[in-house]
Amino acid sequence: MLNISELPVQLLPPRASDCLLQPLWDYLLFHHRLLISSPFFPVLLAFSSYFFFSIPFAALDILGERVPLFFQYKIQPDRQPTVGMMAKSFMTALYNHIFFVLPTVIISIYILPTPTLPQDAPTLHQVFTEGLAVLLLFDTQYYIWHFMHHKHPQLYRWIHAIHHEYVAPFSWSTEQLSIPELMTVGFWSNQDPILLKCHPLSTWCITVFSIWMSVEDHIGYDLPWTLNHLVPFGLLGGAPAHDMHHQKPRSNYAPFFSHWDRMFGTAVPLKKKKAMKRQIHCE
Ligand SMILES: [Zn+2]
Ligand SMILES: [Zn+2]
Repeated sequence: MLNISELPVQLLPPRASDCLLQPLWDYLLFHHRLLISSPFFPVLLAFSSYFFFSIPFAALDILGERVPLFFQYKIQPDRQPTVGMMAKSFMTALYNHIFFVLPTVIISIYILPTPTLPQDAPTLHQVFTEGLAVLLLFDTQYYIWHFMHHKHPQLYRWIHAIHHEYVAPFSWSTEQLSIPELMTVGFWSNQDPILLKCHPLSTWCITVFSIWMSVEDHIGYDLPWTLNHLVPFGLLGGAPAHDMHHQKPRSNYAPFFSHWDRMFGTAVPLKKKKAMKRQIHCE
């Protein structure tokens, strides 16, 4: 009698969970092939993620104390960003993308081979494992880069200081980066999924998810439902760790996870500041 476990893997019927993303992938291939195969698509996806994820937190910043439900979670309540600061951060990101990222993509069209899109969708398990692998690799690369740029005064001054203009970060300041920093981060974001042979759909999911994590790092609110609270054992640093990095720059170098900072003794817990009680004198 034939034992099912002896069948070659390709003869086993696919599990239902393996096919969950196939309808979505077929839809994208059939209706949006031109868009998703464009070399500009990853940039468009990354920038629009930054734009749309930042908007709700910018609204919170503008409303400030008028919405106590959220303002109670503000990490540095005495430091509110102004609309001018928000506009400056956003315009820096927009300028860098228009004048440096887009020309780089145009040049890459003539240098790099055109990637082909596979017919099969990834499994959910594949998206998760590829996503985790890319995030862990990027986290390690950025930890080393970030550590070096805080240790070396010239590197800090010319490349990383622009990101530290504000002691209290806010959502739009996520991408207030110098051109070399943006290009380095962009290079890893592009090359890491290729190095790890990720499916294009996994890559796009990682792009959106990592930008969500980066925006969360900078929101300036320690909201109880953010990822660092949802993922157990303090595995993720989130806004408390990164806000502390902006207050005390030689700490919490990792962008997403907390293990490197814990291992190398650079983890510093957040000390939440209390809002200054305003004295109202009725005379
Ligand atoms: Zn930052
Ligand atoms: Zn820094």
